Amino acid sequence: MIPNLDETICAGATPSGFGAIGIVRLSGKDALSILQQVFVPFKKQTDFPKPRRIYFGTFQNGDHWIDELQTVYYKAPHSYTGEDMVEFFHHGSPFIQRKILETLIHHGARLAEPGEFTLRAFFHGKFDLIKAESINDLIFAEHEASHKIAMQQMRGYFSNRISQLRQKLIDLTALLEVEIDFSEEDIEFVDRQILIKTAKEIIKESQLLLDTFKTGNVLKNGIPVAIVGKPNVGKSTLLNRILNEDRAIVSDLPGTTRDYIEDMIYVQGLPLRFIDTAGIRHSEDAIEVVGINKTYEKAAEAEVILLMIEPVDAREEEISSQIEELKNKVPGFSEKKLILVLNKIDLMDELPSHWKKILDFETVFISAKRNENIDILLEKIVSFYQIQPSHLPDIILTNTRHVQAFQNIIKHLKEAIHLIELNSSQDLVSQQCRLAIHELGQITGEITNEDILDSIFSRFCIGK
Ligand code: GDP
Repeated sequence: MIPNLDETICAGATPSGFGAIGIVRLSGKDALSILQQVFVPFKKQTDFPKPRRIYFGTFQNGDHWIDELQTVYYKAPHSYTGEDMVEFFHHGSPFIQRKILETLIHHGARLAEPGEFTLRAFFHGKFDLIKAESINDLIFAEHEASHKIAMQQMRGYFSNRISQLRQKLIDLTALLEVEIDFSEEDIEFVDRQILIKTAKEIIKESQLLLDTFKTGNVLKNGIPVAIVGKPNVGKSTLLNRILNEDRAIVSDLPGTTRDYIEDMIYVQGLPLRFIDTAGIRHSEDAIEVVGINKTYEKAAEAEVILLMIEPVDAREEEISSQIEELKNKVPGFSEKKLILVLNKIDLMDELPSHWKKILDFETVFISAKRNENIDILLEKIVSFYQIQPSHLPDIILTNTRHVQAFQNIIKHLKEAIHLIELNSSQDLVSQQCRLAIHELGQITGEITNEDILDSIFSRFCIGK
């Protein structure tokens, strides 16, 4: 449900917790009058509040003083939301923030929904949907590459390209539709070859953009990796080794919070996301309880599967049968990249050098316990992905919504070309072009529906 934009909304814009400063935002038609009721500047000023000026004073609910703070008033349309807006910079205490919000609500505001400030900004034409989405991506970007992609989207490269494509198609379709009006006179305003050429150009461009999604997805969400194998081969030892090594490095950085990137590590700038297949990290017993099948189900989420083997099982027929089992039990196994990981090489007198010749898979020999060759294994995983975070193209798709739109655009334009080649009537051709234009418009938000907006903005934090 799209919230009511007539109401005045408020929310904390900083994460709850103790700190030097916290920020509360207020936006909507009553923002100014509420400000005048809850804030008294220390220096009496007749022209209070001038827009974009910082005032120092007391925030109060009636006679009850809540904080001494600074505030700024932004006059519509020159604010983030495009509405009248106020920001309060209060002492960074969750209690004070709550009291401020309660006061604002008491004076007629209501608590904002997630992403509602940005939704309002979008509705007031401050930016298009691509930029709105990029703001969220920017907030959640955890490393160089995802930050760069979000910044580029925010700066409008993608939006501009979409608008150009859309305009091209609109111009041609409009001419085509003029023809419909003159259909009895059999005039062709649009050279069919030009129309086909334009459609093909847009198809090609859409395909190129679709091709970037794999990279975009990898950079945004990490390369999903699953470790599978029989109980006791050393899966949890390896996983703990990989994640803990990284944690030691990352936690050296001041102020780094580890919680939400618990399972991510970065190798040559690329994020690897380890899927905890049925809780292998927690205990050996968990595997036995949940059963090996559960592990296989989880492994379906991976792009890279590490099949771990112990020395006793390092035989061709044993490995082949395990791979066969994976093929049968892991949905989509054939599209995944498989690496055989022979663990516990410290227990072997010599490496099974014949192995590689027997089985045509990437193989790495490691000792998880002794931390041997783990770096080689990680490098092998990222070598499947020819991505250099420092050399990314200007536009990269990271969003499944955009992917679906481009898939539909290609479908409609191929159909349009097909119809032209069959010499079909203009209106059938123009109908397909219109559908493609519609899809392009949905990407930028020139055309929207509630479901799209809901799904985009519900992912935002409250206060953004
Ligand atoms: P999982 O059931 O596959 O998760 O296996 P674990 O990681 O729990 O390991 C099972 C046993 O193998 C433990 O006793 C580990 O210490 C041992 N182990 C794991 N990796 C190695 C290794 O590289 N060398 C040796 N010698 N033992 C290992």
